[in-house]
Formats: sequence, structure tokens, C-alpha cells
Amino acid sequence: MPRELQFQVTPEVAAQPELLQKQVAQMMHVATTEIQFVHVLKRSIDARQRAIKINIKANVYFEGEVIENTEVHLPDYPNVTHKTPVIVVGAGPAGLFAALQLIELGLKPIVVERGKDVRGRRRDLKAINRDHIVDEDSNYCFGEGGAGTYSDGKLYTRSKKRGDVDRILRLLVGFGASPEILVEAHPHIGTNKLPQIIQDIREAIIHFGGEVLFESRVTDILISSNEVQGVELQNGQRIEAKKLILATGHSARDIFELLDRKQILIEAKPFALGVRAEHPQTLIDQIQYSCDFRGDYLPPAPYSIVKQVNGRGMYSFCMCPGGVIAPCATSPGEVVTNGWSPSKRDQATANSGIVVELRLEDFKPYAKYGPLAGMEFQKDIEQRAFRLAGQTQKVPAQRMMDFSQKKVSAEIPKTSYVPGTTSVELGEVFPSFLTQIMREGFVQFGKSMKGYFTNDAILHAPESRTSSPVRIPRDPYTLEHLQIKGLYPCGEGAGYAGGIISAAIDGEKCALKIAESLA
Ligand code: FAD
Repeated sequence: MPRELQFQVTPEVAAQPELLQKQVAQMMHVATTEIQFVHVLKRSIDARQRAIKINIKANVYFEGEVIENTEVHLPDYPNVTHKTPVIVVGAGPAGLFAALQLIELGLKPIVVERGKDVRGRRRDLKAINRDHIVDEDSNYCFGEGGAGTYSDGKLYTRSKKRGDVDRILRLLVGFGASPEILVEAHPHIGTNKLPQIIQDIREAIIHFGGEVLFESRVTDILISSNEVQGVELQNGQRIEAKKLILATGHSARDIFELLDRKQILIEAKPFALGVRAEHPQTLIDQIQYSCDFRGDYLPPAPYSIVKQVNGRGMYSFCMCPGGVIAPCATSPGEVVTNGWSPSKRDQATANSGIVVELRLEDFKPYAKYGPLAGMEFQKDIEQRAFRLAGQTQKVPAQRMMDFSQKKVSAEIPKTSYVPGTTSVELGEVFPSFLTQIMREGFVQFGKSMKGYFTNDAILHAPESRTSSPVRIPRDPYTLEHLQIKGLYPCGEGAGYAGGIISAAIDGEKCALKIAESLA
């Protein structure tokens, strides 16, 4: 039986197995040669003090002990070619993990995705970055893997259900992610590694008898007597099934409009909106690690900050150490930012959404749009930003202190946002209540994180797709839509997830409920 230990070591020791083994031996008062293997189970950084430590939980095996095989295996998926079909609209994390779960439960997923496969999608991302052309079906949000593919691939969630999280992480490892994601307290995969994992998931879905249709935008949900009958695609093709998982993400505005038009119950939902701030990574390292240089053994530092400003929460969102700001518009005529990083997080800049919580009352000027009021509020800001920055994929940008002091920045240095920036007073992009909170909030951030409030930080506007502006209500037990039998609103777009892991968990949950209802 291995001995389980929890202890702290320096980053240098944590990074080198021989040093770690030596230190464990010292702690246990035994010779290093008596220890066969230190199996690290969990690792996290403790940066609360100047001397940074790594917390480790490990199993220690002594010579002669049998080392437990912890290899991760995929479930034994059955072949579902001739089983009951379930339509899954959207191949984001919610849709893909729903499809895998359906197969495990002996049902046949037909995944219908408006965008292209990961490879085809890459060309369209290039076109956004280089030529400022946004394809409405293939972009940073739409296409195989959904918004999760060309993302940072951070894999943590505030979900308290650790079991569910571990299950998703283990499936990701089964499909090729590094087993390190099971160990790190804040795991991430990186944009360079995600596409292959997503492609392997798709290949498994097809191999076990599911179907995956790309470039197939759903334009109608077929309903008779308040019960789902299937979907219609943009080319007129119809697919029939009595069960439909709708996992179209927070940017599928046409789906929200379709539901509203068909008088299928949807509700406006509060979300958060703001800017994406970019600092030199070295500055964030200095602030977070209280050091001049990070050294060889610590990862580029992340940060997380929240303040109450004028009674509202202003906080960091989807922080990407060593990352890049991405153009995430889903239609021409708008600009939207978000961030990603490669697996090594080795870019020179750190970026984070800095957003302010919105309330339903903020959408009052858009009340005529009913449940789409929040979506129209969001759209308005994205379109205004587009016009102010020169009607390309360039974004309005301003230095952080200049923004707080209402000064247009004389010049904006080159940032990681490839399409480029235009110097704009960002107060022009947002409603005044939001601007005021952000102007004050950045000053407060600077008081908590010394050095954060600086003109070396460049704000890009807007960060507007933080979560869905709409909720599609569902029965909390059956997960079926409140009015439409067979319709399962799922994932981030329906308002039940906020990130890759929680979307994947929600996809699995919907699949389980469908299997239960058919049993
Ligand atoms: P989505 O991933 O949005 O998937 C929805 C899918 O539905 C899309 O593929 C879309 O093309 C398809 N679709 C839409 N309409 C239709 C239609 N009419 N017909 C057919 N298909 C349709 N989250 C994290 O947890 N960690 C991160 O590090 C992280 N970084 C991010 C970085 C970027 C650049 C972006 C854009 C997002 C990031 N996110 C991150 C958020 C995360 O990607 C989402 O929370 C997650 O992908 C939501 O999953 P989903 O399946 O619910 O929806």
C-alpha cells in the first residue's frame, strides 16, 4: 500500500522528480534508495508568501510495492448505428459530451453543426485575423468543438461536483489530453492541442455509429402538438427525431430569434460585459509572485480579482497568462474580444476579460425586444465598437490610465490582437454607468495589485460574450423545455453552463435524462 502524503516544496524541487524523491525521503526519514516512486496526485501553487511553494499530494511507493496502474481508459462504447436517434444541435463541449454519453447509453447521436471541422475552420480564423472577413458559420465561436476549440482550454469550474469534473477530465485524457490535467489544480490544454482532441472525439462518435454533419445550420425546429419532431437545415434537408439537445452556445442569436418567433418560451438573462485588458506577462509575474523574474520553474502567473464598485461586481474573467487576444465576432459589422493561449503559455502578454455584472434593469432601453433585450444591448455595444474602430475587425483600444482619466491615448503600441487596434476613448463604446464603474474599478484594482493600474496595460473593447444573454427555461428534474416535449436546452447558450467543463457536464446530464425518459 502506498503512503499518501501532503507537503510543500519549492518550485524547483516540484519540477524535478529526482529532487522530489530526495526531499520525500528526507521528510520520511528514509534513504532515497528505499523509495521506488513518488506519484503526484494533485499539485497547486501557493503564492501567498514571498517564498512561493508548491502544494503536493502524492502517493509514495517503497521498493518492492506494486505500483497501481492509473492509466485512463475510455468507456466501452457500444455500436449505436441502428439505435434510437437523438439530434444534438451544436458540436461544442456540451454537444460533443452529450453525444459521447448518448452512445455510452446505447442511443444514436446525430450531431448537427453549422460550422466546419477543426481543419476547415482554421482557414476562416486566418481570414478574420488577416482579411477582416467574418464568416457567420465558421469563426472563433462556431465550428467543430464550438467556442472551446481555439480557446485557452482552461479546465476548471466553480462546480462543486468534483466527481463530474473528474469524469470529463478523464474522458479528455482518454482522447489524448495530457494526464497532467488530472494533477494540476488549475489545468489547461491550450489552443495548439485542443483541435486534435476534438477531432478524435468526433472520430469516435462516428466510429461507434453516431453521425456528425458539418456546415449544417439548423434553421427550424419541427414541432407538432408541442412535441419535437426534428429539425430543418439551411439547405431544406429535414432530420427526424423525437429528442433534441439544443446546445448552440451563447452566440447563436439566430436560434434565440427562432425560438422567440415560434413563441417558445425564453427569458432575458443577466450577463457581464466590459473590456479585455492586456499587460506584459513579466509585470503580472512580478505582481503575483513578488519577484523580479519568474525563473525557470514557475508557470506564467495568472490572476483573479474582484471588486465591488458602485454596488456592482467588477471582476477578471477568462484570464489567459502568456496568451493572445482573439477576434471573436460571429457576424460582420461587430467586434468582440476574448482570449486564448498555447499550451506553454509562452507569449509575452497576459490578457483577461475585465467585466462588470449587468442586471435585467440595464436592458430597459431595449424592452421592446422582450426576452431578447439583453442580446440587443450586447449587439449594440459590439456594433458601436465596430463603427468607432473603423469598420474592420480592428478594436477600439485605450491605455488603462488614460481610460480612467478620460484621455484618448496618443498612440497604442502593437498588442497581441492581430487585426489591430484603433485609439478610441472607450467611454464612447459603453453606456455611461458601465464606463464609470470601469474607470473607478481599474484604480481600485491597482490598489490591490500594485503595478496593475498602468498605462502599459492596453484595454480592448468590448469583452461581451461572457455568458448567454438568454435563458431557455427547462424543468429542473427532467431537463426538458417547460413547454416543448423532447426539447432539451443545454450548455452555455441555454444558460446552464459557463465554460468548457460545465458545458460538457451539462451535455452529459441532458443525455442521461433522455435515456431515462426512454427507458
Ligand atoms: P459552444 O461551445 O458555443 O458551442 C455551440 C456550437 O453550436 C458551436 O459550435 C456553433 O457553431 C453551433 N451552432 C450554433 N448555432 C447553430 C445552428 N443554428 N445550427 C447548428 N449548429 C449551431 N471556457 C473555459 O472553460 N476555459 C477557457 O479557457 C475558455 N477560453 C475561451 C476562449 C475563447 C476565445 C472563447 C471564444 C471561449 C472560451 N471559453 C473558455 C468559453 C467556452 O469555450 C464555452 O463556455 C464553451 O465552449 C460553451 O460550450 P457549449 O457547448 O455550451 O457552446
